[in-house]
Amino acid sequence: MNQYDVVVIGGGAAGLSAALVLSRARRKVLVVDAGSPRNAPAAHMHGYLSRDGMPPAELLAAGRREVTSYGGDILDGTVTNLVAAGDGFTALLAGGQRISARRVLVTTGLRDELPDIPGLRDQWARDVLCTARTVTATRSATVGSASSAALPARSGTRRSCGNGQTT
Ligand SMILES: Cc1cc2nc3c(=O)[nH]c(=O)nc-3n(C[C@H](O)[C@H](O)[C@H](O)COP(=O)(O)OP(=O)(O)OC[C@H]3O[C@@H](n4cnc5c(N)ncnc54)[C@H](O)[C@@H]3O)c2cc1C
Repeated sequence: MNQYDVVVIGGGAAGLSAALVLSRARRKVLVVDAGSPRNAPAAHMHGYLSRDGMPPAELLAAGRREVTSYGGDILDGTVTNLVAAGDGFTALLAGGQRISARRVLVTTGLRDELPDIPGLRDQWARDVLCTARTVTATRSATVGSASSAALPARSGTRRSCGNGQTT
């Protein structure tokens, strides 16, 4: 069984950033990543300084290169269980592998729960966006909770459908 200082569960932007700092500090680090970042459906990312317009997968590939250049390890896989063991933890992977580490960092991100509207999932990150910033001159609707849905409706979109609040 491998022994690490830190096992990072989740290799998105957060996990890779943490692993980069830890590996630069000469910690023995492993990132285990299931490969489903939240923004996977998006063709490009925006608002990330110096990387505006970059495909999200390119950012993660660059992050992986930076982590490994400092000696960090990356493993494609899914952690299914985590148990306290001695002074540290043992992470159990879907394939049966066991990883031992003194510390664990969980950076598994968020998962979007889309409403059950026909066609919406297929259009997620295409015609259906998580931000209205780039929608200025077209008719659009906003779906979400009352507070979050009202914001883009006020800032120029036509209609908001959040928990019965229509603007
Ligand atoms: C459609 C869309 C477009 C977006 N566009 C932008 C944008 O333009 N600019 C911007 O700044 N932000 C954007 N975001 C937000 C951005 O996606 C998140 O801020 C970012 O992905 C968060 O990074 P993270 O590392 O926390 O999580 P994630 O990127 O979700 O990464 C988490 C990783 O953990 C892995 N994981 C989960 N469970 C396990 C497990 N048990 N074992 C191993 N690995 C596991 C997942 O597979 C995933 O690879 C967008 C989001 C969406 C939904």
